[in-house]
Amino acid sequence: MLRRFCFGLDMAAESDALDGVDIAIVGGGAAGVLVAIRLLADSDSRLRIAIIEPASALARGAAYATTQAEHLLNVPVSGMSALAEDSGHFLRHLSDSGESSDVTGMADSFVARRDYGRYLRDTLQAQPRHADLCWLRDQVVDIGRGDAGNLLQLASGRTLTARAVVLAVGNMPRRIPASRLRGEVRLVEAWDYPAVTAIPRTADVCIIGSGLSMVDAVLGLVHAGHRGRIRVLSRHGLMPLEHARPGAGQASLGELASLDLRARLRRVRTLAREAVAAGEPWQWVFDRLRPYGQLLWLSLSHAEQRRFLRHVVRYWDIHRHRIAPQVAATLDGLRENGRLEVVAGRMLVATAQPDGSVEVTCLPRHEDEVRTLRADWLINATGVETHVDLRPDTLLGALRIRGRLLPGPHGIGIASEGPGCVFDARGVADPTLLVLGAMRIGSLWESIAIPELRVQAQAIAAHVRGLLGETAGDV
Ligand SMILES: Cc1cc2nc3c(=O)[nH]c(=O)nc-3n(C[C@H](O)[C@H](O)[C@H](O)COP(=O)(O)OP(=O)(O)OC[C@H]3O[C@@H](n4cnc5c(N)ncnc54)[C@H](O)[C@@H]3O)c2cc1C
Repeated sequence: MLRRFCFGLDMAAESDALDGVDIAIVGGGAAGVLVAIRLLADSDSRLRIAIIEPASALARGAAYATTQAEHLLNVPVSGMSALAEDSGHFLRHLSDSGESSDVTGMADSFVARRDYGRYLRDTLQAQPRHADLCWLRDQVVDIGRGDAGNLLQLASGRTLTARAVVLAVGNMPRRIPASRLRGEVRLVEAWDYPAVTAIPRTADVCIIGSGLSMVDAVLGLVHAGHRGRIRVLSRHGLMPLEHARPGAGQASLGELASLDLRARLRRVRTLAREAVAAGEPWQWVFDRLRPYGQLLWLSLSHAEQRRFLRHVVRYWDIHRHRIAPQVAATLDGLRENGRLEVVAGRMLVATAQPDGSVEVTCLPRHEDEVRTLRADWLINATGVETHVDLRPDTLLGALRIRGRLLPGPHGIGIASEGPGCVFDARGVADPTLLVLGAMRIGSLWESIAIPELRVQAQAIAAHVRGLLGETAGDV
């Protein structure tokens, strides 16, 4: 019998072997919570669910752990509903919870990310069966096979059996390789929000990477009163572009899937030019592409996907993963007044200097002469680690050694199919081991933001119910 625990409380361990559950969700970030919401929403089902998450609150993860008001969602409110079938859900929550009394025009606005984590937690708690969920504040370090299905080994030494397991292990920061750091370099991770804001105000800072994590770091510094110089170093020197006014229109771009990569790019450029000529923002073309992200990836040959990753991905990222207009205005202002400089080039090595500062040598793009940048602090904003073997956590490595997973296409993410069934080393999809989110990147490409996660969570819940529904309760 499973003991009942109040939602939000840790499951007390009286013995090392915990009572079994039907479904264990590994990771309680946004994706894990979306799966739990979907499973609990079905009030007829009596599936027993455990979520294992070491953090002090659910639905935080790297994205929503920030407490800083200046860190905004990069998707408008209307795109961030937890429920794909109810696009107004998040907006109503903002209105009902009193977080904003005036919701006029808010559907198209970009609110603080910290409010989003709260929204997901409230939505979870609002599910009729939320008391059936137990949350273990622990970490899963390995998953073997046992008589009752999957045997989860936890960092605390406890074990848990589960008939199905959902890997919702999300984003881990990409590390700067140790071989590129010489001495005790003053280095801060961009997702370590308090550490970024603790950098002394007059310090010169060098940020490696120019994507959305860089944007967070710059905003964190600026709002903490930082007055030093900020240099951003990235291979292409490309910054995220800004969102336009809402109104993408409905025209389908699914026809692009029948073209090869080169022809697709030509067509998108033409469409963007035509849009601008007609007085529309080019961004609307990308917004119309959004629903076809996975189809467009899957319809490319392996070689063309490779070509996309090698030559197009940076350009795709800045057009597709955009920032709120007010954030873009802040960055533009900093560049105009010389506080922020963007250098296109490859970091070679960062060396700690005797006075504590850091010397970064880099090879500027299209040049053959090495350049040296000096800073007081270095910030790593190189983004999400998508290679299983390079992630710092032990779980995925352990599963790989056991032969329970394979890296995804192009060596990125985890190989999976259908609702997220993970391929084992023999290439057989395991219906009891599922994955969603960033680790499906190689298989699906677009698999990181809420609009994709909520659909994947729904598919996983349906799959698990079908798999276990009839015999639930026999553990
Ligand atoms: C800085 C940033 C900003 C973003 N902004 C947006 C946005 O505005 N809109 C949008 O749609 N998307 C945004 N995203 C995309 C983001 O990936 C998703 O919205 C979402 O947060 C991903 O959730 P997740 O649960 O998959 O991953 P994560 O948030 O990374 O959560 C994974 C969780 O799994 C836990 N975990 C990992 N391994 C284990 C283990 N072995 N055992 C137990 N627990 C484990 C971790 O502790 C973590 O809490 C942003 C991403 C980042 C990094």
